[in-house]
Amino acid sequence: MAHATALGLDGSNGHPSLAGHLSWLIDPTGQMTFKQALEQNNSGHFFSVKGEDVALGFLPNGAVWVHFSLNREASAPTVWWLAILLDTLDHIDLYIEQPDGSFGVKHGGRVFPLAQRELDWRAYAFQLDLKRQGVCNIYVRAASIGAFRIPFGLWVDKDFERYRTGENFSIGMFFGVMCVAFLLSAFRSLYYRSSLDGFNALYILGIETANFAMFGYFHQTGLSENFLLRAYLPSIGVALACIALIWFVLKLIVWPNLLIRRLNVIASIITITYVLIVILSMTVSPRILPMWIVSLSGLMVFVPLVATLWATRRGWQYGRLFIVAFFPHIVLALLIQAGSLGLVSGTWEFLNAYLLAAVFHVVLLFAVILNRDAELKRMKIELEWQISRLNEEMNHQSLFLRMLTHEVRTPLAIIDSNSQLLAMQNHENNSIAPQVAQIRASVAQLSELLNRCLSQDRLTSFNLFEPSPVDLGELITTVAAEVQSKTEDHLITCHAENLPKSITGDAGLLKIMLTNLLENAVHYSPDGGNIILTANIDMTGKILIDVCDEGVGIEEAALKSIFECYYRTQQVESAVGVGLGLYITKKIAQLHGGDIVCESVLGEGSRFRVTLTQDRSLGNGQHAPSHRYFE
Ligand code: ADP
Repeated sequence: MAHATALGLDGSNGHPSLAGHLSWLIDPTGQMTFKQALEQNNSGHFFSVKGEDVALGFLPNGAVWVHFSLNREASAPTVWWLAILLDTLDHIDLYIEQPDGSFGVKHGGRVFPLAQRELDWRAYAFQLDLKRQGVCNIYVRAASIGAFRIPFGLWVDKDFERYRTGENFSIGMFFGVMCVAFLLSAFRSLYYRSSLDGFNALYILGIETANFAMFGYFHQTGLSENFLLRAYLPSIGVALACIALIWFVLKLIVWPNLLIRRLNVIASIITITYVLIVILSMTVSPRILPMWIVSLSGLMVFVPLVATLWATRRGWQYGRLFIVAFFPHIVLALLIQAGSLGLVSGTWEFLNAYLLAAVFHVVLLFAVILNRDAELKRMKIELEWQISRLNEEMNHQSLFLRMLTHEVRTPLAIIDSNSQLLAMQNHENNSIAPQVAQIRASVAQLSELLNRCLSQDRLTSFNLFEPSPVDLGELITTVAAEVQSKTEDHLITCHAENLPKSITGDAGLLKIMLTNLLENAVHYSPDGGNIILTANIDMTGKILIDVCDEGVGIEEAALKSIFECYYRTQQVESAVGVGLGLYITKKIAQLHGGDIVCESVLGEGSRFRVTLTQDRSLGNGQHAPSHRYFE
């Protein structure tokens, strides 16, 4: 290899390009002495570098020797700074040619020994005092098991100071904004139980962890010198950020239901594969990592683009936001691609663009979340308005029903009493009795219908549940006796001895429920028979009420519908009824924290089982207050 040409330091250029005068040699064993390195260079074994970086990959046992030759012109300042900008190096030695041609050595020691560096700074910087005119040779020996590339910079004093302050400011700002964004998202995710914020917080934590390790702060702060931690921490951070971002996107975009499960699987596979490949490429051969990063960055540009176009074309809501979610990765990926093509070479530009993109991204994601919140809040207000309108309408309806019932009851009472009067006045005339009976039966039927409508109305209006201590055993006996008094063809038997003396419930509603069940049993057993009501308390403290009859039964297909409003089976179409009783019964059971089920065999009879929870708060009639409205 040809010797690197000397770099002219003319002073008008505070940051001269190092290209063309920088050369390097890898010492795979790490045993090479300075004398041997000099000999290697003199015999032309060093490689010239095109850019300003030495990309060496990981060197678990070796070191890299880098040679500069600097030629200061008379007008140029004498003090210069040689800075090693980004990567974290384990060991660094600087050999500077002295006026007499000998070499003085400065040692950098292992892992940021601050005292031995020229300046208290995140990266390495050595002050060069180039008093002598003409070419000065400098050798740097860098050993690292964690470094990926070694970027060099050469500045005059004042430019270097500006650079150092600028970088501190930009990195400080980056971590500052990230910390604020993280705290905000973490707080929101806990307070609003919003998983979208949770994923955002995880994403920020992931990239912060990666940067904290990658930019050298991790061991600068003396946390650990452990190689594995140092090498894997950035990957773990990036993988974490990746997982969080993918789930963020899945959560953010309103995907079609059918697709969502498949997407979850795909997202999990992508993330697991990504993590495995990073681990593999670092464990098996760290040298393939640069290749992996370049190809991954290509994917990062194209996948979001294709996915966005696809989602937008299919009309999925927020499809375009896909690109927003991946924005800095696309910027970073483009930079990496540009770097691999030699279009971007300055570490400083690269770093700044990356930090800016990351900060911009977190702010953007936050804006997206807030925008979504605003939209959800708008929807909530709209819904509340619609609910209040519906409630108002229901109240009107309910009022109308009550008015109608009241108005109809009076004429009904007049018809009933007058028909009784008519029957009494004509008690000798037997022919009128059947008509009077028919009139009274119809009146009773109409009254029953009105009663049921009113019960349903009561259930759907406010303040429907008025719990108080109830003696359920006594209530059951009373209702059974009442229903028994209306029939001679049926025998109602009750077993309610094991019930607690008092339970918490709404006695009025429980009465409606028991009456419905027993009257149905009577009603739908036209040939008479036994009706057995059993009430018990089970091991878990639930109350079970069974009503069994030997009536017409219910066909299997109808069993799932009998609790619906106005549903009636084909078998009973000729019998009087409106299909509201079981609907009301189920609602009452639910208000008591329970439910109702039915087993039946057509032509043999039915068994209705009601479960009630004693502790009403377990029921689904009440909802725990919640802040959750963002998801
Ligand atoms: P209704 O009795 O007014 O028709 P319900 O809601 O009480 O209304 O009952 C709904 C339907 O369920 C009834 O029409 C009937 O077909 C069926 N059903 C209810 N209870 C029984 C029972 N004990 N035996 C057979 N069928 C029943």
